[in-house]
Amino acid sequence: MLKTDKAQQFILDTERVRWSAGIDKTGPVVVLFVGIHGNEAAGIAAVDRIAQTLNREPGKLRGSVYAITGNLGALVQGVRYIDADLNRIWEMYNTRKDFSRMNGAKQPAEFSESLGIKKAIEQILARHEKSASDFIFADLHTTSSQSCAFLLLNDTLANRAIARKFPLPQILGIEENIQGTLLSYVNNLGYRALGFEAGAHYDDLSVKRSEAFLWLLLHYTGILELNGQEINEFEKMIQAQAGVPDTYYEILHHKLVDDPEKFEMMSGFENFDQIEKDTPLAYEEGRLIKAPISGRIFMPLYQKKGHDGFLIIREVSEFWLELSSYFRNSFVHTLLKYLPGVTVASRQSFEVDLRIARFLVKDIFHLLGYRVTEKDEYMLICYKR
Ligand SMILES: [Zn+2]
Repeated sequence: MLKTDKAQQFILDTERVRWSAGIDKTGPVVVLFVGIHGNEAAGIAAVDRIAQTLNREPGKLRGSVYAITGNLGALVQGVRYIDADLNRIWEMYNTRKDFSRMNGAKQPAEFSESLGIKKAIEQILARHEKSASDFIFADLHTTSSQSCAFLLLNDTLANRAIARKFPLPQILGIEENIQGTLLSYVNNLGYRALGFEAGAHYDDLSVKRSEAFLWLLLHYTGILELNGQEINEFEKMIQAQAGVPDTYYEILHHKLVDDPEKFEMMSGFENFDQIEKDTPLAYEEGRLIKAPISGRIFMPLYQKKGHDGFLIIREVSEFWLELSSYFRNSFVHTLLKYLPGVTVASRQSFEVDLRIARFLVKDIFHLLGYRVTEKDEYMLICYKR
């Protein structure tokens, strides 16, 4: 079904755009993504609950809210995805890779889903670009393991500023380990984007936490005003369990899985559980996989779809983070090319030869706000964010 705003000839696909409200062209614009994975419906239920409340009081909003539905086909079937993970393919819009021919000659179902989402984003941007005070995007997910709620963000100062308002563990630099996410795509368009993970897929709490997160997001972006009691109540609802500080975390290790059918995570791991080096974690093709380092287990894979077996994360010190925000706008960038093993690749990037570069080179680039990815065994590419 199509809904037309006559004054603007603004046509929204109402199957893709599940909810829109406010539509005050001058205020902030919040764009929500729900159901990007078809087995994660908590965000959809939360959006419906908020929509029901707010549709009764349309005058309450000082800005606009849109909720875009992700994988329509996979949601019908209740599966994560049909042919390709819809949250791993967004790099195709920044590269020349011909995604339409992935999986042999067959075009994955998720290709047209991504086009539908992209179109909705472009329509919303076009409508508000000239007048909106601000755009904020949030992508709502759940996990296959038991988990408290947490935020995922690409490590830019703008993302950190909005994320910091929530009393939640915040995982930085996800874009270095997991490529092609919708969040990275939105960040590359130049907008702030947060990933909210509410808890386990089928846990009722995941719906309640998603709803609390959305109310707080609308409040913190200035679209509506909650009173002190409401803020307390919603913050309490999303707060992490004892033992998981609501600070920043960085990703230290990422276990990639070729064939999820041959990967078996040992039972009983919850997100953020502390683990020691050499703790047995999983079996892959009959081989025992142990933790290569100590830290906290993150997003252990308890479903047969997806290629991220588990990650290991660790808290980042406040000192390091403050230092890094101080340096990001400084002249130090011009000196990087003098480090051993570092060459200028473009105006925005450097290459680092690990055979020459000394200890800490990667940390220095992180500190200065670069995204560090591996080009091959010996080379890193560092992009300025
Ligand atoms: Zn997800």
